[in-house]
Amino acid sequence: MTATHPSFVLHGPAEPRTPLVLDSPHSGIDFPADFGAAVSELALRDGEDCFVDELWLPATERGVGLLAASVPRTYIDYNRHAGDIDLELVEGGQWPHEYLPSGKARLGKALIWRTLDDGTPIYDRRLGVEEIHRRIERYHRPYHHALAKRIEATHARFGASWHIDCHSMNAVGGAQGEGGAGKVRADIVLGDRDGTSCDPAFTELVRAHLGARGYEVKVNDPYKGVELVRAYSNPAGRRMSLQLEVNKRLYMDEKTLQKTVGFALLQSDLASLVDAVLAYTTEATRPH
Ligand SMILES: [Zn+2]
Repeated sequence: MTATHPSFVLHGPAEPRTPLVLDSPHSGIDFPADFGAAVSELALRDGEDCFVDELWLPATERGVGLLAASVPRTYIDYNRHAGDIDLELVEGGQWPHEYLPSGKARLGKALIWRTLDDGTPIYDRRLGVEEIHRRIERYHRPYHHALAKRIEATHARFGASWHIDCHSMNAVGGAQGEGGAGKVRADIVLGDRDGTSCDPAFTELVRAHLGARGYEVKVNDPYKGVELVRAYSNPAGRRMSLQLEVNKRLYMDEKTLQKTVGFALLQSDLASLVDAVLAYTTEATRPH
């Protein structure tokens, strides 16, 4: 079952059936007509977490909801606060709405990206305040609302919620990549914002499960987790959020953007992770 909105698709049951919530904010490929970029669609897919929604889709057969972005990350990045505006991209350099810079504008990767990973400018113009505001209201806000609502409903039903924010990363960092140019990434990087977005026992469960399957797993290096694991988490209130990045080299060709033979194995290993997480969350929410 799926519910769709211009901003996202919700795969799986309409109401929570398990304590686990998944979201894939960077796998969208519906290019809005008003993008107005100066580079090709293929170049814009550089910022995409290709096929990440599909990698996690078997979770929906286990009753888990999977929220997935419809539009590309380079159009508007759901893993940013709505106030994370890059003033260099705004006509007139002023933003009259909520302004909450994260520092990502320095890398050209604030709410609306200014440059690709290699530093190429995405636009040959500045964007109007109205144009940016429309992207926030039409796409960013509904996605965040849907995720918050799902986590709320899950917590209301089970007394706790576990959220995995699903991503993928390029095998090697680009000129403006996290951790610096040329940095070779691990197979999997977990981010719990240095232990503040979920119980460390949950991070350890995921790390150990994937490590036992032969993956090299790093925690908070170089990705600590960004807005989507920050915004709705509160471990003391039993709301856990963990970011999970898989390396693109495990399942796709970064040049052709085609899946490789590794896709099926990674997909099945992630399904086994979902089974392990469901066993853990079922136990943790069992009435004593
Ligand atoms: Zn991502």
